[in-house]
Amino acid sequence: MTLYQAACHCGAVKYQVEGEFEYLIECNCSICSRRAHILWFVPLASLQFESGEDQLTNYKFGKRRLNHRSCQICSTAMFTHGDDKGTEKSGLNIRTFADIDITALDITQYDGKAL
Ligand SMILES: [Zn+2]
Repeated sequence: MTLYQAACHCGAVKYQVEGEFEYLIECNCSICSRRAHILWFVPLASLQFESGEDQLTNYKFGKRRLNHRSCQICSTAMFTHGDDKGTEKSGLNIRTFADIDITALDITQYDGKAL
């Protein structure tokens, strides 16, 4: 298992998460394309906050099932979570992870716009 360190730009929000990248997506839906997410899906309970959980804003739209969480100080998009057909699911924006080479990762282009 690899331990990843995530942080927003200003450093207020920091968490750790353990796991292996298996399925990463870059989605073209209205929110992902604007926020430039690259998402890795892990249970929200896997996130271990070091700081700043109370600094997260929550943006909802459409069916309002998903919570799009950003740092309220620097606006970095950190992760999205919510109810996906009865299962709590979360997608972490791996662009916030330290010491990873995004260009070396296998990222699936996901057509969320078509949904
Ligand atoms: Zn911040």
